[in-house]
Amino acid sequence: MRIIIPPSWRNRINRYQLIATKCRDCGRTSYPPSDICRYCGSRNIEKIPLINEKARLITWTIIYNAMDGFEERKPVILGILETIESHARIMAPLTDVLPEELQSGMLMEPVLRRIMEDGEAGLIHYGIAYRPLIKPQ
Ligand SMILES: [Zn+2]
Repeated sequence: MRIIIPPSWRNRINRYQLIATKCRDCGRTSYPPSDICRYCGSRNIEKIPLINEKARLITWTIIYNAMDGFEERKPVILGILETIESHARIMAPLTDVLPEELQSGMLMEPVLRRIMEDGEAGLIHYGIAYRPLIKPQ
């Protein structure tokens, strides 16, 4: 018997666990994970967890015009980070930091955070966000 997992569930697992894939041929890391290396096309890949890795902030964008469900977190800061050991590029919301405190190169760590609330359905969505390793002064 084959069990097919719906994509939304698969994606949820990936978001929570922060799993990437590493290519055994070229050594590069893909995030989100992919069955085929996005750099060299190899299928010789392995899954690696990124949840214990710190990351450096590369750049970010600030969204003042948050969509429904995100109002309480205005502004939403979306960062692009690179993990320290695997050099995986990750796009994730940033938390516990003000826009004026952000600096490129700052060290951040992943945390599980409430990302948005779907008021009508009563659903609360959790996901990975990154926060500064050292609270900015
Ligand atoms: Zn590769």
